[in-house]
Amino acid sequence: MEVSAEALTDKYNYFLFDCDGVLWDQEEPIEGAIEFIKYLTGKGKTVFFVTNSSWRGQIEVYEQFKRIGFEMGSEIESSQFYSATSSAVSYCKNALKSKKIFVFGLEGVSAEIRRQGLEAVEPPKDYYENSRCGEAEFEEMQSDPTIDTLICGYTNKWTYKMLCYASILIRSGTHFVASNIDNVWSTGTRQMPGGGSIMKMLEAAGGKKPIIIGKPSKILFDTIIEEHKLEDVPLDEFIMIGDKLDTDIKFGENIGIDTMLVLTGVTTKSNYSETKDDPTKPVPTYVSERLPEVNLE
Ligand SMILES: [Mg+2]
Repeated sequence: MEVSAEALTDKYNYFLFDCDGVLWDQEEPIEGAIEFIKYLTGKGKTVFFVTNSSWRGQIEVYEQFKRIGFEMGSEIESSQFYSATSSAVSYCKNALKSKKIFVFGLEGVSAEIRRQGLEAVEPPKDYYENSRCGEAEFEEMQSDPTIDTLICGYTNKWTYKMLCYASILIRSGTHFVASNIDNVWSTGTRQMPGGGSIMKMLEAAGGKKPIIIGKPSKILFDTIIEEHKLEDVPLDEFIMIGDKLDTDIKFGENIGIDTMLVLTGVTTKSNYSETKDDPTKPVPTYVSERLPEVNLE
Protein backbone atom coordinates (compact mmCIF):
# COMPACT_ATOMS: atom_id res chain seq x y z
CA MET A 1 0.00 0.00 0.00
CA GLU A 2 1.45 3.37 -1.03
CA VAL A 3 1.02 6.24 1.41
CA SER A 4 1.43 10.00 1.16
CA ALA A 5 3.66 12.13 3.36
CA GLU A 6 0.55 13.92 4.69
CA ALA A 7 -1.13 10.65 5.67
CA LEU A 8 2.03 9.58 7.51
CA THR A 9 2.40 12.82 9.42
CA ASP A 10 -1.31 12.79 10.32
CA LYS A 11 -0.95 9.37 11.83
CA TYR A 12 2.54 9.16 13.37
CA ASN A 13 4.67 11.37 15.62
CA TYR A 14 7.82 9.23 15.94
CA PHE A 15 9.70 8.06 12.86
CA LEU A 16 12.43 5.44 13.07
CA PHE A 17 14.68 5.18 10.04
CA ASP A 18 17.14 2.61 8.90
CA CYS A 19 19.98 4.48 7.13
CA ASP A 20 21.68 2.45 4.39
CA GLY A 21 19.32 1.84 1.50
CA VAL A 22 16.72 4.24 2.91
CA LEU A 23 18.45 7.59 3.45
CA TRP A 24 21.75 6.96 1.74
CA ASP A 25 23.64 4.54 -0.44
CA GLN A 26 27.31 4.44 0.58
CA GLU A 27 28.15 8.17 0.75
CA GLU A 28 25.34 9.44 -1.51
CA PRO A 29 21.91 10.57 -0.32
CA ILE A 30 18.97 8.65 -1.81
CA GLU A 31 16.76 10.90 -3.91
CA GLY A 32 14.16 12.69 -1.80
CA ALA A 33 15.55 11.52 1.56
CA ILE A 34 17.01 14.86 2.70
CA GLU A 35 13.74 16.59 1.80
CA PHE A 36 11.66 13.99 3.63
CA ILE A 37 13.64 14.36 6.86
CA LYS A 38 13.37 18.17 6.58
CA TYR A 39 9.64 17.84 6.04
CA LEU A 40 9.21 15.70 9.16
CA THR A 41 11.27 17.94 11.42
CA GLY A 42 9.43 20.96 9.99
CA LYS A 43 6.18 19.34 11.13
CA GLY A 44 7.60 18.91 14.62
CA LYS A 45 7.97 15.13 14.33
CA THR A 46 10.65 13.24 16.24
CA VAL A 47 13.05 11.17 14.14
CA PHE A 48 15.44 8.44 15.22
CA PHE A 49 18.06 6.69 13.14
CA VAL A 50 18.72 3.03 13.79
CA THR A 51 21.44 1.18 11.95
CA ASN A 52 22.81 -2.29 12.46
CA SER A 53 26.40 -1.11 12.11
CA SER A 54 28.46 -3.18 14.51
CA TRP A 55 31.66 -1.20 14.03
CA ARG A 56 30.47 2.42 14.21
CA GLY A 57 29.25 4.20 17.33
CA GLN A 58 26.67 6.95 17.68
CA ILE A 59 28.98 9.84 16.81
CA GLU A 60 30.37 8.15 13.69
CA VAL A 61 26.88 7.58 12.25
CA TYR A 62 25.88 11.16 13.11
CA GLU A 63 29.04 12.45 11.39
CA GLN A 64 28.19 10.41 8.29
CA PHE A 65 24.64 11.83 8.31
CA LYS A 66 26.04 15.38 8.31
CA ARG A 67 28.77 14.61 5.77
CA ILE A 68 26.23 13.23 3.29
CA GLY A 69 24.28 16.48 3.39
CA PHE A 70 21.57 15.99 6.01
CA GLU A 71 22.95 18.90 8.06
CA MET A 72 20.06 20.75 9.65
CA GLY A 73 21.61 22.91 12.32
CA SER A 74 20.57 21.90 15.81
CA GLU A 75 17.28 20.27 14.81
CA ILE A 76 18.81 16.82 14.83
CA GLU A 77 21.22 15.83 17.55
CA SER A 78 23.61 12.95 17.93
CA SER A 79 21.39 11.48 20.66
CA GLN A 80 18.85 10.59 17.96
CA PHE A 81 21.28 8.11 16.39
CA TYR A 82 21.47 4.50 17.40
CA SER A 83 23.83 1.95 15.98
CA ALA A 84 23.89 -1.66 17.08
CA THR A 85 27.25 -0.76 18.66
CA SER A 86 26.01 2.19 20.71
CA SER A 87 22.92 0.25 21.80
CA ALA A 88 25.01 -2.76 22.79
CA VAL A 89 27.18 -0.56 25.00
CA SER A 90 24.10 1.17 26.50
CA TYR A 91 22.63 -2.24 27.24
CA CYS A 92 25.85 -3.41 28.90
CA LYS A 93 25.98 -0.25 30.99
CA ASN A 94 22.31 -0.10 32.01
CA ALA A 95 21.08 -3.67 32.11
CA LEU A 96 24.23 -5.69 32.80
CA LYS A 97 25.96 -3.00 34.88
CA SER A 98 29.18 -3.76 32.98
CA LYS A 99 32.35 -1.87 33.80
CA LYS A 100 35.13 -3.52 31.84
CA ILE A 101 34.42 -4.84 28.36
CA PHE A 102 36.59 -7.00 26.10
CA VAL A 103 36.21 -5.98 22.46
CA PHE A 104 36.04 -8.64 19.77
CA GLY A 105 35.51 -6.01 17.12
CA LEU A 106 36.90 -2.88 15.51
CA GLU A 107 38.11 0.43 16.97
CA GLY A 108 34.65 2.06 16.76
CA VAL A 109 33.41 -0.34 19.44
CA SER A 110 36.21 0.58 21.86
CA ALA A 111 35.60 4.28 21.19
CA GLU A 112 31.89 3.90 21.94
CA ILE A 113 32.63 2.02 25.19
CA ARG A 114 34.92 4.84 26.31
CA ARG A 115 32.41 7.51 25.19
CA GLN A 116 29.88 5.94 27.52
CA GLY A 117 32.36 6.00 30.39
CA LEU A 118 33.25 2.30 30.56
CA GLU A 119 36.61 0.59 30.20
CA ALA A 120 37.42 -1.05 26.86
CA VAL A 121 39.95 -3.89 26.75
CA GLU A 122 41.47 -4.75 23.40
CA PRO A 123 43.46 -7.91 22.66
CA PRO A 124 47.21 -7.51 23.28
CA LYS A 125 49.28 -6.61 20.20
CA ASP A 126 50.90 -10.01 20.38
CA TYR A 127 47.55 -11.63 19.56
CA TYR A 128 47.63 -9.96 16.15
CA GLU A 129 51.27 -10.57 15.36
CA ASN A 130 51.62 -14.08 16.70
CA SER A 131 48.26 -15.55 15.88
CA ARG A 132 48.94 -19.22 16.57
CA CYS A 133 48.00 -20.83 19.83
CA GLY A 134 49.10 -24.33 20.80
CA GLU A 135 47.60 -26.50 23.52
CA ALA A 136 50.31 -25.67 26.07
CA GLU A 137 49.93 -21.96 25.49
CA PHE A 138 46.15 -22.26 25.70
CA GLU A 139 46.45 -24.08 29.03
CA GLU A 140 48.65 -21.25 30.34
CA MET A 141 46.49 -18.40 29.08
CA GLN A 142 45.32 -16.24 31.96
CA SER A 143 41.89 -14.65 31.70
CA ASP A 144 41.27 -11.34 33.44
CA PRO A 145 38.53 -11.88 36.07
CA THR A 146 37.78 -8.14 36.16
CA ILE A 147 36.46 -8.29 32.57
CA ASP A 148 32.71 -8.67 33.07
CA THR A 149 31.50 -8.49 29.46
CA LEU A 150 32.57 -9.35 25.91
CA ILE A 151 31.07 -7.44 22.97
CA CYS A 152 31.30 -9.07 19.56
CA GLY A 153 30.83 -7.00 16.41
CA TYR A 154 31.93 -7.24 12.82
CA THR A 155 35.71 -7.37 12.55
CA ASN A 156 38.21 -8.20 9.84
CA LYS A 157 41.07 -8.11 12.35
CA TRP A 158 40.91 -11.26 14.39
CA THR A 159 43.17 -14.22 14.94
CA TYR A 160 42.90 -17.75 16.25
CA LYS A 161 44.67 -16.71 19.44
CA MET A 162 42.06 -14.04 20.03
CA LEU A 163 39.32 -16.61 19.54
CA CYS A 164 41.03 -18.86 22.12
CA TYR A 165 41.12 -16.02 24.65
CA ALA A 166 37.49 -15.02 23.95
CA SER A 167 36.36 -18.62 24.43
CA ILE A 168 38.03 -18.72 27.85
CA LEU A 169 36.25 -15.49 28.85
CA ILE A 170 32.85 -16.71 27.67
CA ARG A 171 33.26 -20.11 29.30
CA SER A 172 34.26 -18.46 32.58
CA GLY A 173 30.91 -16.67 32.78
CA THR A 174 31.62 -13.27 31.16
CA HIS A 175 28.47 -11.69 29.64
CA PHE A 176 28.47 -12.32 25.89
CA VAL A 177 26.80 -9.57 23.84
CA ALA A 178 26.61 -9.47 20.03
CA SER A 179 25.72 -6.38 18.07
CA ASN A 180 25.01 -7.85 14.67
CA ILE A 181 23.43 -11.04 13.34
CA ASP A 182 23.86 -10.38 9.63
CA ASN A 183 25.75 -13.47 8.44
CA VAL A 184 26.77 -11.89 5.15
CA TRP A 185 26.34 -8.77 3.07
CA SER A 186 26.19 -8.48 -0.67
CA THR A 187 29.14 -7.04 -2.56
CA GLY A 188 27.32 -7.28 -5.88
CA THR A 189 27.92 -10.80 -7.09
CA ARG A 190 29.17 -12.36 -3.85
CA GLN A 191 28.13 -12.66 -0.21
CA MET A 192 30.87 -11.45 2.15
CA PRO A 193 31.07 -12.78 5.76
CA GLY A 194 29.53 -10.30 8.20
CA GLY A 195 29.25 -9.82 11.97
CA GLY A 196 26.83 -12.72 12.33
CA SER A 197 29.47 -15.13 11.02
CA ILE A 198 31.97 -13.88 13.61
CA MET A 199 29.34 -14.15 16.33
CA LYS A 200 28.57 -17.78 15.46
CA MET A 201 32.26 -18.64 15.60
CA LEU A 202 32.46 -17.24 19.15
CA GLU A 203 29.20 -18.93 20.09
CA ALA A 204 30.59 -22.30 18.97
CA ALA A 205 33.95 -21.80 20.69
CA GLY A 206 32.46 -20.34 23.89
CA GLY A 207 29.57 -22.80 24.16
CA LYS A 208 27.06 -20.06 24.95
CA LYS A 209 24.49 -18.05 22.98
CA PRO A 210 25.01 -14.28 23.00
CA ILE A 211 22.53 -11.58 23.97
CA ILE A 212 21.75 -10.02 20.58
CA ILE A 213 21.22 -6.27 20.41
CA GLY A 214 20.85 -5.07 16.79
CA LYS A 215 17.65 -5.10 14.76
CA PRO A 216 15.37 -7.09 14.79
CA SER A 217 15.97 -7.35 18.56
CA LYS A 218 13.52 -5.14 20.50
CA ILE A 219 16.33 -4.27 22.93
CA LEU A 220 17.45 -1.49 20.57
CA PHE A 221 13.97 0.09 20.75
CA ASP A 222 13.86 -0.27 24.54
CA THR A 223 17.14 1.68 24.73
CA ILE A 224 15.60 4.56 22.72
CA ILE A 225 12.46 4.61 24.91
CA GLU A 226 14.51 4.62 28.11
CA GLU A 227 17.05 7.23 27.04
CA HIS A 228 14.44 9.62 25.60
CA LYS A 229 11.87 8.95 28.35
CA LEU A 230 9.12 7.95 25.93
CA GLU A 231 7.52 5.29 28.14
CA ASP A 232 4.13 7.01 28.01
CA VAL A 233 3.92 7.34 24.22
CA PRO A 234 1.43 4.85 22.70
CA LEU A 235 3.06 2.47 20.20
CA ASP A 236 0.64 3.53 17.44
CA GLU A 237 2.45 6.88 17.24
CA PHE A 238 5.63 5.13 16.01
CA ILE A 239 6.57 3.90 12.56
CA MET A 240 9.72 2.07 11.42
CA ILE A 241 10.94 2.71 7.87
CA GLY A 242 13.51 0.37 6.32
CA ASP A 243 14.66 -1.55 3.27
CA LYS A 244 15.16 -5.02 4.76
CA LEU A 245 12.36 -7.40 5.71
CA ASP A 246 14.33 -9.63 8.09
CA THR A 247 15.87 -6.81 10.11
CA ASP A 248 13.92 -3.54 9.72
CA ILE A 249 10.38 -4.81 9.18
CA LYS A 250 10.86 -7.68 11.61
CA PHE A 251 12.15 -5.10 14.14
CA GLY A 252 8.87 -3.15 13.82
CA GLU A 253 6.89 -6.38 14.10
CA ASN A 254 8.77 -7.40 17.26
CA ILE A 255 8.06 -4.01 18.85
CA GLY A 256 4.42 -4.00 17.71
CA ILE A 257 4.54 -0.82 15.61
CA ASP A 258 3.60 -0.03 11.99
CA THR A 259 6.28 -0.34 9.31
CA MET A 260 7.08 0.92 5.86
CA LEU A 261 9.27 -0.99 3.42
CA VAL A 262 11.00 1.16 0.81
CA LEU A 263 12.39 -0.45 -2.31
CA THR A 264 15.50 1.70 -2.60
CA GLY A 265 18.00 -0.65 -0.94
CA VAL A 266 18.41 -4.39 -0.36
CA THR A 267 14.76 -5.07 -1.21
CA THR A 268 13.92 -4.10 -4.77
CA LYS A 269 10.71 -4.20 -6.76
CA SER A 270 11.65 -7.51 -8.37
CA ASN A 271 12.97 -9.40 -5.33
CA TYR A 272 10.07 -8.14 -3.20
CA SER A 273 7.51 -9.56 -5.61
CA GLU A 274 9.29 -12.92 -5.29
CA THR A 275 9.22 -12.97 -1.46
CA LYS A 276 6.06 -11.12 -0.58
CA ASP A 277 3.89 -14.25 -0.38
CA ASP A 278 6.44 -16.14 1.72
CA PRO A 279 4.62 -16.82 5.03
CA THR A 280 7.90 -16.78 6.98
CA LYS A 281 8.55 -13.12 6.07
CA PRO A 282 7.15 -10.21 8.09
CA VAL A 283 4.45 -8.15 6.38
CA PRO A 284 5.03 -4.38 6.22
CA THR A 285 2.11 -2.00 6.87
CA TYR A 286 3.11 0.02 3.80
CA VAL A 287 5.31 -0.71 0.80
CA SER A 288 6.62 2.18 -1.21
CA GLU A 289 9.02 2.34 -4.13
CA ARG A 290 10.71 5.28 -2.40
CA LEU A 291 10.18 7.69 0.48
CA PRO A 292 7.03 9.76 -0.14
CA GLU A 293 7.51 12.93 -2.12
CA VAL A 294 7.12 16.13 -0.18
CA ASN A 295 6.41 19.71 -0.96
CA LEU A 296 8.82 21.92 0.98
CA GLU A 297 7.40 25.42 1.08
MG1 LIG B 1 19.26 -0.79 5.20
